[in-house]
Amino acid sequence: MAPLVVRNGVAKSHLVLGPAIVESLYHDPPNNCAIATAVARIGHELGHVVDHEWKSSRFGTFAFRPISEFAPRQIDQYLWGLSHHLWDEYCANRIVTNVVKEGLDEVNLFVSARDVYKARIYEARQRLQLERISLADFLEVVARNVRLVLLATGYLLGRADGERDTGEPTQEVLAALADERSRDLVAFRSCLAELWDRRETWSSYSDFLCINVPTLELLHGLEIFPLEKADGGVFVSLPLQL
Ligand SMILES: [Zn+2]
Repeated sequence: MAPLVVRNGVAKSHLVLGPAIVESLYHDPPNNCAIATAVARIGHELGHVVDHEWKSSRFGTFAFRPISEFAPRQIDQYLWGLSHHLWDEYCANRIVTNVVKEGLDEVNLFVSARDVYKARIYEARQRLQLERISLADFLEVVARNVRLVLLATGYLLGRADGERDTGEPTQEVLAALADERSRDLVAFRSCLAELWDRRETWSSYSDFLCINVPTLELLHGLEIFPLEKADGGVFVSLPLQL
């Protein structure tokens, strides 16, 4: 990961690499496949650094300001909490795909996340209806699974658009995107691509809230309906399943 850290008043991106990456680079005898993966991972993290640089040049110390500053509505804060990392992963992977052609297996990551998240949420919903778990536990399952599938979606869409920047997306990537089961997730692509195209002219960090629109659609597809109450709070409506 590549967190932003303030030290002596200066914000810098720090790369945090797991021991497996370092081990892959120094392994004796060298394992070319492991080296390619390690290089691609480091490249991906450096992609985050580029994104930090773009955002800092437009918004200053964006990462250290409260969420309410750019998303005053609580419903936007809720949706942003589910989807904010989608852009980060898309952007980092679109950048690295232009430089490193192999090493990350975004298709497998995406397909495995896509194929389980709905079932896990529906299973938790049944448990909620049988009063085996609380509403808070259910919403936690929703948040964890939506975040995971959007993480994988960011990786794959970044790969797809990165490959398109320099030629044609590979057949494997195209097949994963064309699958009917990917439709809700591919819906994020136009919003992400537009943010990318406008990266020199982002006017406010609030521009990224456009990701909340397909996020709300995704929740509706799961029959989860977050609503804004009159007092500004968030109410989640869950129609009864018979
Ligand atoms: Zn990342």
